[in-house]
Amino acid sequence: MLNSFPKSPKAVNEPIKSFAPGSPERAEVLTTYKNLYKQTVHVPLTINGEKVESGNTAEMHPPHDHQHLLGTYSLAEKKHINQAIESALNARKAWSQLSFEQRATIFLKAADLLAGPYRAKINATTMLAQSKTIHQAEIDAACEFIDFLRFNVQFAEEIYAEQPNSGDGIWNRLSYRPLEGFVYAVSPFNFTAIAGNLSAAPALMGNTIVWKPSDHQVYSAQVIMEVFEEAGLPAGVINMVMGDPAMITETVLASPDFAGIHFTGSTFIFKNIWQKIGENIHNYKTYPRIVGETGGKDFIVAHPSANVSEVATGIVRGAFEFQGQKCSAASRVYLPKSSAKAILDEVVKSLEEITMGSPEDFGNFVTAVIHQGSFDRLKEAIEEAKKSSEVTILHGGKCDNSKGYFVEPTVLVTTNPHYDTMERELFGPVVTVYIYEDANYTATLELVDQTSAYALTGAIFSKDRYAAEEALIALENSAGNFYINDKPTGAVVGQQPFGGARASGTNDKAGSKLNLLRWVSPRLIKEPLLTPKNYRYPFLGE
Ligand code: NAD
Repeated sequence: MLNSFPKSPKAVNEPIKSFAPGSPERAEVLTTYKNLYKQTVHVPLTINGEKVESGNTAEMHPPHDHQHLLGTYSLAEKKHINQAIESALNARKAWSQLSFEQRATIFLKAADLLAGPYRAKINATTMLAQSKTIHQAEIDAACEFIDFLRFNVQFAEEIYAEQPNSGDGIWNRLSYRPLEGFVYAVSPFNFTAIAGNLSAAPALMGNTIVWKPSDHQVYSAQVIMEVFEEAGLPAGVINMVMGDPAMITETVLASPDFAGIHFTGSTFIFKNIWQKIGENIHNYKTYPRIVGETGGKDFIVAHPSANVSEVATGIVRGAFEFQGQKCSAASRVYLPKSSAKAILDEVVKSLEEITMGSPEDFGNFVTAVIHQGSFDRLKEAIEEAKKSSEVTILHGGKCDNSKGYFVEPTVLVTTNPHYDTMERELFGPVVTVYIYEDANYTATLELVDQTSAYALTGAIFSKDRYAAEEALIALENSAGNFYINDKPTGAVVGQQPFGGARASGTNDKAGSKLNLLRWVSPRLIKEPLLTPKNYRYPFLGE
């Protein structure tokens, strides 16, 4: 125990590198990409710091080049999941009692490893197996992940510093205990940063973890484990297991020591997990914390006063970066009749310039969608739209999976504001536009609020401050992250805490103190300085 209250280094957002032609970072990431492409790797399970082979494997392929083999990964059996739980429970005592500065240093070191020696590798693996362009990889796998690691240390320190008042002759103290048991982290394919943070955030607060990455992110998940290990994470604190998600989840939720889930993924799966937790509630030693950030059907509304180019740019970037595979991606757009044509002409002009292909070619703005299932879902929705009398295809509509899962950026215009693709999360490069009469702005805001089950992100474009204010009020519960005159994507840790409500999640705001509070169970300690020695109060008199 050190006799001090150390202050951690002040967190600042990691600067985004440009990867402009001629820059050293561009040369380094391309070399790393090409070298990795030539090799195959194998990713074992990580249980109690050991690399474990199950004998059963699955393959990893680039979505933009699906016949190419990147490597294989081990698939866990039920016994491995039980071993991972046991390992987390065994590691808990020492880890939860380790001083905060020791735990924090590991994650700060991981951040510096990602910012320096591992930057090219985490970016290149994210480009290869999740098909991100270099810019999308850099803002996610490098910068956002680094920000999560650094800001969480600062937030944790602020939490620990929050202490109750102490009355006369008393010292009241709060200790922020980790949860009693272990935490289950289940991550999606679309953000390497989220995959890392779902286990790192509860681990920083003293919890130990069983982490199940998505089958479609294992390639960069192995780099996350490598970085954590190089940073000095002790054995058993984060155990990484891959395999049948239903079996893994069933096994984890059957443990009486299950203390919480940190989930990001689709709504339906999260609701099923919540239901199973409910069914098992009598078996648990403690009420589990349930934190889940889930789907979105994110909107852009343009007021007649909005600037045409600003709206068009918001649509192109908001809907099509990373092929629309961001939970925050704009997928339904409401344009006023007076400026709809001008806005859509600019959108189409930009999309005509955009090229689609491998992320290795830095000229491409759009690459492939993640897998065959996603390709099929998008193709089917586009084919339906082609047949519908309520929809016009303004741009795109072609799908080709001969080399990679390529879906052209597609703009649908519908006359039915409740058309399927205005309501259902497609999670791909398809945006649907509804054109409203200028005079119906107020009614349109109500339509936006009532159209979808989700409430994750949304944007209003308006030069008229009264109209912007009206949207803020009318759409108060329609989005957990609301943007004025900006695209609804690209939340930055420490600046725009992220999460939505309704069917979009528990809104525990990743990248903020609010999230970390879910991973502690505070204990109040009261101590009088002079302890009474007689039961009688003065009012009892003689
Ligand atoms: P997904 O729901 O298919 O998978 C998420 C995780 O759940 C994966 O690890 C997967 O293996 C696991 N899973 C699958 N079936 C399961 C089961 N039966 N039991 C337990 N776990 C199971 O999602 P995805 O395709 O990886 O990611 C896209 C989804 O994630 C979209 O809906 C998107 O909106 C959402 N998302 C939300 C946020 C947010 O912050 N709100 C951020 C990123 C992604």
